[in-house]
Formats: sequence, C-alpha cells, structure tokens
Amino acid sequence: MFDNLSGRLAEAARSLTGKGRLTESNIKDTLRQVRLALLEADVALPVVKTFIERIREQAVGEVVGRSLTPGQELVKIIHAELVTLLGSETAPLDLRAQPPVVLFLAGLQGAGKTTTAAKLARRLIEKDKKRVAMVSVDVHRPAAILQLQTLAGEVGANFIESQSSEDPRAIVDRALDESRRTHVDVLLVDTAGRLHVDDDMMNEVVAVHERAKPHETFFVIDSMAGQDAVNSARVFNERLPLTGVILTKTDGDAKGGVALSVSEVTGKPIRFIGVGEKTDALEVFHPDRMASRILGMGDVLSLVEEIEGKVDREQASKLAGKLKKGKGFDLADLRDQLQQMMNMGGMAALLDKLPIPGSVNTAALKGGADEKQLKRQVAIINSMTPGERRFPKTINGSRKRRIASGCGLQVQDVNRLLKQHQQMEKMMKKMSRGGMQKMMRGMGG
Ligand code: GDP
Repeated sequence: MFDNLSGRLAEAARSLTGKGRLTESNIKDTLRQVRLALLEADVALPVVKTFIERIREQAVGEVVGRSLTPGQELVKIIHAELVTLLGSETAPLDLRAQPPVVLFLAGLQGAGKTTTAAKLARRLIEKDKKRVAMVSVDVHRPAAILQLQTLAGEVGANFIESQSSEDPRAIVDRALDESRRTHVDVLLVDTAGRLHVDDDMMNEVVAVHERAKPHETFFVIDSMAGQDAVNSARVFNERLPLTGVILTKTDGDAKGGVALSVSEVTGKPIRFIGVGEKTDALEVFHPDRMASRILGMGDVLSLVEEIEGKVDREQASKLAGKLKKGKGFDLADLRDQLQQMMNMGGMAALLDKLPIPGSVNTAALKGGADEKQLKRQVAIINSMTPGERRFPKTINGSRKRRIASGCGLQVQDVNRLLKQHQQMEKMMKKMSRGGMQKMMRGMGG
C-alpha cells in the first residue's frame, strides 16, 4: 500500500531543495504536488482540502532549524498532519466489561469481516488467553456461516450454530445465552453484508446490533475498494454507533486513499489492520508508524515487534552455536531461514516496513523473494535426502535431476538455490570467523 503516494510525496519535498525557508510562494508548487498525489491516491476531496490547508498554515513562516532542510521541515509537518488524519492514538480492545464482552463486525460483503473475526478470535485466544465464541447472523448466505465455522475450528474458538431459517435477532439472543452458560469471555458477532449499502440490510444490521448491545462495533473496510467504500463507511457510521474501523488488505497494492480518508470521514479511529489472508495477519494500528511508512521513513518499530514475536530464538541460537563450532551452514539451516522468512510474511512484507526512500523501486526485490518463491525453495530442499542437505557438494547432475523432478521444478531452479546457499554459506563463515565487522568490510569490498 502507498507505494505510489510515498514516491510522489518524496518528490514534492525534494522540490524545495535549496530554499532557505518555507514561504507562501515557494511552497505553493510543492503543496500543489502534494494535493495531486493525495487525489491520485484516491483520498476523499474534502479530506485533501483540509489536509492541505492545515499544512499551509503551519508551513508558512516556519523558521527552518539549522539541522533541517526546508524539504525535511515540510516532511516533518506532513508527518504530524498524517498522524492527526490517521487518528492520532492507538486504542486497545477494552475487555474489562462483564463477560461475555461482545464484539460486533459490520461492513460490505467481501470487505473481510469473517476473516477478520477469525483473526480477532485468534489474537484473543493466543495473546489474551480468552475463551472466545463466534456466531454468524448472515442468514442470507449459508456459505458465510460455513466459512465462519471452518475458521472458528482453525483458531480454536467455540462456534455457535445458526440456521438460514432463523431470525437474526433470535440468533443473537441464543448466542448470548449460550456464551453466558459456557463462560465465554468474548463473543464475536459476524453480520451479513451486501455488495452495496441497501435499506433492508441496514435495517437488519441495526436491529441485530440493538439486540447484541456490543461493547465494540467495528466497521470492516477493504483498503482496495476506493471511494465507494469510504461512502459506505459514512452510511454505516450514521446508522451504527461505531467504536472503530478495521482496515483490511493493507498488504495489497491499495493506493492508500481509504486508509487516509476513513477516519476523517467517520471520526472513528482505525483500530486494526489486516495484513494478509492468514488468521495471524492482523496488526494493531499505530497512526504514527503508518504515517512514517507513507513517507518512506519505514516502520522499523512494527518490524522489530514482528521479529520478536515470530523468530524462533531457540533455532537461532542453535545455528549460532553450530557456526561457532565451525560446523558450517548447510541446506537444512537454509531451509530454517527460509521458513522464518515465510513466517514473517515474505520479503515484500519486510521491505514495506524498512525505511527505504520512495524513489527506490523495491518491486524487483519483492518479486524475487515473495512467499511463492520461498515455498518453492523450501520444496527443493525438502526433495533432497538428509545427506544431500548436510553435504551439498555431493549433489551432482543426476541428483539435481532427481531433486527437480521430486518437487516438480527445473534443474536450473535447483542450481539457483545451491548458488544462493553458497553465497549465504560464505557470508556465515565470515560472520563466525571475524564477526560483524569483518562481514561489513567484506560487503564493502
Ligand atoms: P466478508 O464477506 O466481509 O466476510 O469477507 P471475507 O472475510 O470472506 O473476505 C473476503 C476475501 O478477502 C477473502 O478472500 C479473504 O481471504 C480476503 N481478505 C480478508 N482480509 C484480508 C487481508 O487483510 N489481506 C488479504 N490479502 N486478503 C484478505
């Protein structure tokens, strides 16, 4: 998300290079560029207008400090305004109410409600150690109920059954009773969505909401859906007392307009973002980090948190110990590394969070090590014998052919992987012998 916008904003800031201070006239052009960049990213027009106005007010007359260039000064102001636009603060889930705490998900069909319900359930079960139940009141689409059932099973939540023949309000009453009886801490209510806002749907969702009396009412919105989605957010916000927004599919190539408009349009904070299809791909939303990401300043904090949570420390120290003893980095070790990268969402997810200037094109890098690619590399290693993994040098032509056909790939794919392993092995050797410094020197020379 935001790839294009980041580049355009960086360009706009660069146009101020060489100016001594920010003045009405020298920022005029720059602000026009910022305005265009935002409109192209599909940010709602009224949002763009107020945003630009706020920046103009602050920028003009700003005495540029000695440590900052005017371009940097403007970036600083834009950053602060982006944070305001994105809702300023992070609001955690409030789970202190008398159980069952009810979380309610509303939104259009396809926005990602059911998937998000499963992600929230998983988070509550794994992180907060809560007993979670899930219910669907989508009596119009039996497939939606089934989908929720499957996901509930996957994440270990209780699934409360519902039938297409039932009144959605009766389902809610039953779900509340059952949750109380079985001492459930949190009940997640997944609602019906249509492709467009219509009165019947709105009336139904409002009626269900009144019965459920939820503690949190989330509007789930697809970041790829553009202006229409923002308009639907406005309608839902008028009919339901929303407590927050959950923005899905931020891992895709959305332009960013929905993310930047929805909070301002509804006056409600974005609370979580969906960063993938799997049930662990949900992050707490941090406006400041997202603003940094938009400006190409990277989101190193999120990255660090993610690595802390996902890197297998035991495995890492085992590898370190092995290298210290001079035992070398074999293909089984490479497989562990690739699997860890997959856990972190692949190279694309990592690159999005690193402070890479918007002008740098990371597409090639992302393409080279996406999840599919990582999976193929792991498949190649899986197709080897333990001996081959331990002693890659024994892999001759006929072994390569066997390995390739074992995983349905070409010999050249096997060659590429072996080459990659050799390079990493070299790097690891340097690291274990001379430590970091030597490696850095090696990379420089
Ligand atoms: P619902 O109709 O609102 O319940 O939407 P679903 O939960 O069925 O999701 C619709 C589609 O969006 C599914 O294919 C999901 O896998 C996908 N999806 C949901 N959230 C995300 C996300 O954060 N990232 C990606 N890439 N896909 C998502």
